[in-house]
Amino acid sequence: MGLNNNLRTEVEKIMTAHNYSDYKWIDPKRIVVSQWVRMKCRFGCGEYGRAGACPPQTPSVTECREFFNEYSEAVVLHFQGLMDKPEDRHAWSAKINAGLVKLERAVFVAGFEKAFLLFMDSCCFCKECTGNRKTCQQPRMARPAPEAMAVDVYTTVRQVGFSVNVLSDYNQKMDRFAFLMVQ
Ligand code: SF4
Repeated sequence: MGLNNNLRTEVEKIMTAHNYSDYKWIDPKRIVVSQWVRMKCRFGCGEYGRAGACPPQTPSVTECREFFNEYSEAVVLHFQGLMDKPEDRHAWSAKINAGLVKLERAVFVAGFEKAFLLFMDSCCFCKECTGNRKTCQQPRMARPAPEAMAVDVYTTVRQVGFSVNVLSDYNQKMDRFAFLMVQ
């Protein structure tokens, strides 16, 4: 068994122990980082400047690309949700993101010192986000979403076989994706 297979087996055991089964491995060099994603954060998103783990708090697009290039193994985790009302999304994402922080921690303490998790949605831990890393109420827990790191999530996850489409209203099931950067 090769080095990467051993790594994958070890991480998969941790993911199973944390009840994650809907995921795929990806070569981080295939994670698509694009300027248009950052542009959509800057214009059109109500969280820009108001969310402590979103742009402009996150690195520049060039730095984001460099960040992904420093890894050779990553996992894409898939989550599906159907909300009764749009306001429910906050609590749904907060719960999943809290679990993902624990997963990152478990992978880290297993010896993968580069383990870093990108949330499946914006942070969502606090009712009112301070919008700033310096005043963040849970600075050890907050992580950016892949979109906040300029990841073109649609193109990236389709490459590894996930199906995802633009939704037009909340009656449709949402597909959300978190990224676990391993090594
Ligand atoms: S932990 Fe709270 S204050 Fe910090 S980024 Fe998340 S929602 Fe904002």
